[in-house]
Formats: sequence, C-alpha cells, structure tokens
Amino acid sequence: MTEHTPRTAPAAAPDPDLVAAVRAAVDARFPQMLQTLKDLVAIPGMAWDSADRSVLERSAETVADLLRETGLEDVEIAVEDREDGQPGGPAVIGGRRGGSDKPTVLLYAHHDVQPIGDEALWDTPPLEATERGGRLYGRGAADDKAGIMVHLAALAALDEVAPDAGLGVRVFIEGEEEAGSPTFRPFLERHRDRLQADAIVVADSSNWAVGEPALTTSLRGVTSGTVTVRVLDHSVHSGMFGGPVLDAVVLLSRLIATLHDAEGAVAVPGLEPRQHADVAYDEDVFRADAGVLPGVRLAGRGTLADRLWNGPALSVIGIDVPSVDTSSNTIQSSARAKISLRLGPGMDPAEAQDALRRHLEAQTDAVLGAEITFEPGEQGQPFATDTSAPAAAAMMAALGAAWDTPARETGLGGSIPFTADLQELFPDATILITGVEDPDSRAHSANESLHLEDFRRAIVAEALWLAGLAGVTAPATR
Ligand SMILES: [Zn+2]
Repeated sequence: MTEHTPRTAPAAAPDPDLVAAVRAAVDARFPQMLQTLKDLVAIPGMAWDSADRSVLERSAETVADLLRETGLEDVEIAVEDREDGQPGGPAVIGGRRGGSDKPTVLLYAHHDVQPIGDEALWDTPPLEATERGGRLYGRGAADDKAGIMVHLAALAALDEVAPDAGLGVRVFIEGEEEAGSPTFRPFLERHRDRLQADAIVVADSSNWAVGEPALTTSLRGVTSGTVTVRVLDHSVHSGMFGGPVLDAVVLLSRLIATLHDAEGAVAVPGLEPRQHADVAYDEDVFRADAGVLPGVRLAGRGTLADRLWNGPALSVIGIDVPSVDTSSNTIQSSARAKISLRLGPGMDPAEAQDALRRHLEAQTDAVLGAEITFEPGEQGQPFATDTSAPAAAAMMAALGAAWDTPARETGLGGSIPFTADLQELFPDATILITGVEDPDSRAHSANESLHLEDFRRAIVAEALWLAGLAGVTAPATR
C-alpha cells in the first residue's frame, strides 16, 4: 500500500440513496452505452493529413448524433483553419441552458484516435471492439472514446435521477487531440461564449490502478532546444589531425554530460521543482512499467513521484552525427543534439528554456572553447488543478463514492498542452482531469483496452459530481 494525503479540502460523501439511484440508472443503460462505444471504435478518425478525412468526418457526425440523442441542443460540427490554411479536425459541440441560479459545466473528450500501428501486434482486430477478461480491446476503446461515453452516460443518468437538476451543460468533443490540437486555441477563442463554464471536466487521463480512482492534478510542461557544437571550419582526416583537436561528437558528448550530476540529477541552475507530490510511487512498479534493466540505478534525488511529476527532466531526443555504417576516419567539424526538457507545475517554459540556454552557452571549458549555439524549440505550459476549489473536492468525493475507495491526486509526466489554454481562456473555471484509463490501458499502443468495471464507475462518479454541482442531494421520488 502507498500512503496518500490529498491536498483538496475534504467534501462530504454523496448521500447513499443518491449513490444507489445513480448506480441503478447507470447499470440500466450500461449494455446500450457499451454497444455505442463499440460502434465508435469501428470509426477510426485520425487527424493527420495522411489519414482519410472522410472517416474523421463520419466520426464527428456519429458523435454529433449521440449528443442530440442525449438531449443536447444546438449541436454543431465546428472546424477551424490551421496556420497552413488546411482545415483542422472537426470538433463537436452542443449543450443546454441551466437554471439561472445553477452552475454550468463543460465536458471535454476527443473522438480522434492514434493510428493502429502494426496490426500483427494486436491480439484481436483493432477496429472490432472485443470484450475479453473484463476489458474492451480496440483502438480508441479507452483513449478517448470511453471519455465521450462517460460524459453522455453520466448526463443520461443525471436526467433519470434528477430530471429537474437544471445544470447548465456544454459538451466539447475535439477531433484533433492526437495530432497535437493545432486549432484548439482559435477554436476556443471563437466559441468562448458558448463554452463558458464554472468547471471543466477533461476525461482523458488515467486512474491510479484498476479499482483505484485518481484525479490528475498536475501535468508537466515541456520545452526544447537544439544545441550545435562547431570546432573546425571543415572536417579533416583523423590520422593527420587527430590528437590536438577533439572531434565535435566528443565535444558535444562532454557538453551533454554537464546536464546531469554524478547521481543523474539535473545540474542546470534555475530548474528546481516548485511543488511536491503526496503520493508514494512504488519503485518496483515504476521499474516494471518502464522496463528498466536489472542493475540500473534510478537517476536523481527526492521522491519518485516528484522526479516524475514535479522535477525537471532532460533527455537528448535526437542527435546528428555520422552513423556507424557510413563512418570514416574523419574528425567531425560539427555535431548537434535536440534536448527535451520536461517541467513541473509552477515552472515557466520560457524561463526554463533560458536557463538551459545559459547553462549550455557557459560550458566553454567542457568543449575546450569550441563554438556553442542554441536554437530554441517549442514551449508548452505545465498545469496544476486548483485543489482548493469546491468542485475539485466534490470530484474527489464522487470518485471515492463510485469506487468505494478514496481517490488519489496524481500527476502526469506527459503534457496536455491545451489545458493551459483552457485555463488561460477560462481563468475562473476549475479544470478537473479525470481518468478512463488505467496503467495497463496501453493507449497509443497495440492492444489498447478499457477496464469495463472502472468505466462503469467513472460514469457513476461523473453523474454524482454533476448532481452535487446542481445541488441535488437525494434522488427524485417517482
Ligand atoms: Zn487522449
């Protein structure tokens, strides 16, 4: 067992009668919801230029029909142009007005999926959703078509247990998340008024484990840069000139070696973590999940959760040097490497990128005075949920009630860059990142799958949370 102290203020557990009524409403519709999810898996809309756009459009149309069937109004398929003039992925939006004294929620998921990859690696056909061992296998079964179905099933359950809840609802199902959300920002700006909400649920993350819910309260940001080392104005024969002059690959390696200290902790000043996690992450689980070879020591200091979610992480993700197969006895004049830097919440990507640049440019001793140039790369903001918000506490309580076990607050090492955009455009909204996946869901990989009991519980949790937000404390009597 791992210890855990939530940062959120505790909220009262939902009324047991309400929990029972919501469970019954979800159970009654579950087979139908599962069939709808299977139908969605058969439409693998992908938002890359190389993919068949008509499939992505059919996916959007199918989702639009589902929104209408759930009783949402003004359902629309919306497309923004990308910077290159090409159309972005089709998003589906819809909603319904709530009572003037009731809050409004925005429910987000995405309908586009990752490519199938090598079909030979799948144990069942990737586009024929298949139930096996309590899980549903198929591309998008978890990421993120299950997210769409959680929202729609939760709204249906809410309508059944509390038909007069009067909650304002906006639904936004994106169509290009897996392609990096290129038109997210202009889309949000255009539809800002329609999407305005007091709380936003992003159902696109992972629970802690099967049977253990989690709210993802922090996401790492990312930045990068490409560093080039030049030592000669042209490459020369290593026999004739080697010895007094080191080749650019060796010099670049010496430069890269300055990024970490002897224990493998990041040694770049100005990249200290700004917050700490309250979850004890099990090292054996981490080693197994990552496939760390026996005998390899883990790098860095502090708790594993902090190293994964809050600390900086520097990786060399690409390097331009001659390949071994085409190598010759030549002293290379220049070499370059792309460095990726992950950042915890509270760290600013622009400042972090600057810190990385300053560190690299100052290492003239390591490269014996060779020329060092730095070319800045992308910047994605990290994200942290306002865990003091009542909507966050209510979600923790709803998750706990649905799973019958307390929810954890976890971080995610990856980035969802658009969460920072959401927070910037809707600064007063509480953003809650919930899970439909578990650590074995294998989103993006072969044999992606959804744990069906956790899927059911995720629907119950969201319906309970919606009811609580609308001020519903007991089921309507019929
Ligand atoms: Zn996703």
